[in-house]
Amino acid sequence: MSALLKRRFFEQIKIMFGREPSKPKEISPAAQEIHFYKKGNRDLIAEKRHARAHAQPKNTWRNRRWITLICANLLFSLSFGLDIQILEGALTASRFVGFHLIDLNSALQVMLAHKHIINNLLIGTGTVLVLWVLLGGRTFCSWVCPYHFVAEWAEKIHLFLARKKLVTDQTMDRRLRTVFWAIFALLALATGYTVYESISPTGILSRALIYGPGLALLWVLALLVFEVFFSRRAWCRYACPIGLTYGVVGIISPVRIVYKLDGCFHEGDCRKVCLVPHVLDTVIKGRAIETEVPIGPDCTRCGLCVDACPTGSLSFEVKGLSKLA
Ligand code: SF4
Ligand code: SF4
Repeated sequence: MSALLKRRFFEQIKIMFGREPSKPKEISPAAQEIHFYKKGNRDLIAEKRHARAHAQPKNTWRNRRWITLICANLLFSLSFGLDIQILEGALTASRFVGFHLIDLNSALQVMLAHKHIINNLLIGTGTVLVLWVLLGGRTFCSWVCPYHFVAEWAEKIHLFLARKKLVTDQTMDRRLRTVFWAIFALLALATGYTVYESISPTGILSRALIYGPGLALLWVLALLVFEVFFSRRAWCRYACPIGLTYGVVGIISPVRIVYKLDGCFHEGDCRKVCLVPHVLDTVIKGRAIETEVPIGPDCTRCGLCVDACPTGSLSFEVKGLSKLA
């Protein structure tokens, strides 16, 4: 990894905690050459028009992700409903063919509430930690979390209403998520209760899918209404501590999205579909510091940008292995 990319790696961690991305101070000679070539290049403009005219809408990664998410959550429901004991419990704590799996954020909340390290939780937490380090941290969000799925639909309604100029997206300070993370941790410590678990839409939806609906679903509905009419994807962007915890887990993950500068037209289709557009600051004209730039740990590896890019400039990669189809 070049010195520039190493610096960017640490910068991306700060960005995950809420810092806003800024223009790079230094760009490698190879990337500078491409930026220079693109400036006012007529051939490139013609190429861009051609690519856009022939671009086919793709939902490849979205479909793969939705199928995975639905199957994972269905497996919980079926295991309970049919008593087949493949995946018992709910997303917060479960057992997969005998292996204990404990959600990292839930385990942290429980230990803070009890004020000591609970050995029984460590094995299940360790398994989950290894799993999500390997798979990409926030991959949990877009590939497993049931709230992500319903929030994607609420987002579609929000965007439809925004196009009709009936709503506008009220953006908030992204540092709020870090503040909420600390508040929920302190609340667990101070009250002895896992306060966050009672309002976590992830847990509420997971339990509702397995054990049947309850009144807590009204809270999830209220969040979705807020996101449709007031602020796009507000919960995941500005509040959810699970997202931040898994973001930290994904810092060293080998599964990532990689951006290639040379084919990019800088039209920002990827940023329009992204839940966390701050991780895609590198696609803005003149910002890429290298010819290939890995996307930061706050990325949920949802693949929407890969589907949206008309030139294939964004792709999934497993570090040290190869590009995923
Ligand atoms: S940020 Fe939270 S609610 Fe949103 S997808 Fe991730 S875990 Fe689910
Ligand atoms: S960068 Fe791409 S893969 Fe990552 S969250 Fe944004 S749209 Fe999804």
